[in-house]
Amino acid sequence: MMGIDWMARAVAQTAGLYPYVPGKPIEQLLREKGLSHAVKLASNENPYGPSPKAIVAMQKAASEVHRYPDGDANALKLKLAEFHTVKKEQVLVGNGSNEVLELLIRSFAGSGDEVIYAQRAFIVYALATQAAGATGIAVPESDGLTHDLDAMAIAVTDKTKVVCIANPNNPTGTLLGNDAMQLFLDQLPRNVVVIIDEAYYDFVAHQLGDSVHTLKHPGLVISRTFSKAYGLAGCRVGYAVADAELVAVVNRFREPFNVNLLAQVAAMAALDDHDWVKDKVAKTAIERDKLEAELDAMGVLGGRCFANFVLLRHSRSADILRRLEDQGIIPRPLAGYGMPEYLRISVGSAEENAAFLAALNHIAGEI
Ligand SMILES: *Cc1c(COP(=O)(O)O)cnc(C)c1O
Repeated sequence: MMGIDWMARAVAQTAGLYPYVPGKPIEQLLREKGLSHAVKLASNENPYGPSPKAIVAMQKAASEVHRYPDGDANALKLKLAEFHTVKKEQVLVGNGSNEVLELLIRSFAGSGDEVIYAQRAFIVYALATQAAGATGIAVPESDGLTHDLDAMAIAVTDKTKVVCIANPNNPTGTLLGNDAMQLFLDQLPRNVVVIIDEAYYDFVAHQLGDSVHTLKHPGLVISRTFSKAYGLAGCRVGYAVADAELVAVVNRFREPFNVNLLAQVAAMAALDDHDWVKDKVAKTAIERDKLEAELDAMGVLGGRCFANFVLLRHSRSADILRRLEDQGIIPRPLAGYGMPEYLRISVGSAEENAAFLAALNHIAGEI
């Protein structure tokens, strides 16, 4: 059939774009290895499921899904505004914080502009930058893991439109204090948009305090998500808090119904269930410390992490990955982040973590 070469057209438009590689799906691993059970520790999800209140809210709303959701997500934005003591107009919501990040970069950076992030930053910043036709500037970390804020400030030019910093960072797990962050912000031109991606905020809330009100910069954007501590990754809902005029600009770039009905009601219910989140964050911290102590004892701890994952470092990490997958454990390889010696392991439930450690111990003698 004669037609249009869609692939050639797409390839021309996405030259240099590399796809986001998620953790291997459980079904795929089971098929590949002929296993009946697997433990996925690759995407930093909450292993405890969503808040029961969020489940009830979604069940109630299920009979309403023949209607479009509120395209402005007014009730959710009001609740978030109240939660953060900001104005509703300062809240931007998206189909996961992923969409929020993409919208921000697409709104403020285009051809000829530069977006700055760390070399080992969340991969979505580089992808969104390329998709926007802007130039990404990846600044190496000082010690291989921690953001080098001085170097990032020096990298800012008059072409710089956006700076992205995940805090805590994924995949390195490092945390910057608000004092260091404010010193960095103070060095920037006022019109540079600085996205502080706090996807893992809940795991460090006691250390960071109220970053939304502590940090000051006209172009400051703090993004959060319901995908991690809140256990709603499958709903796809995230948000950012920023200057109201900045948010108004970004809203012109989003599609009208970008947060679906079930996601809106689930997020509102989850936000109300403070005790549930606190309990899961506390459990995760205990489990993370146990995992890190075990990895340390085995001599393979890749560094201290301030989120719901841990790092394993070994020169033969590719072998370890394969041998773990043979036993039904799915970690995340970090070669794509330029960290070929590392595996990232999400903190699962006590049973899942025990299964991971047992599998690791099983191969320890051979590696
Ligand atoms: C998981 C994660 C997100 C959240 O993505 P969602 O689209 O909200 O699920 C954002 N930033 C970082 C650094 C993450 O690790």
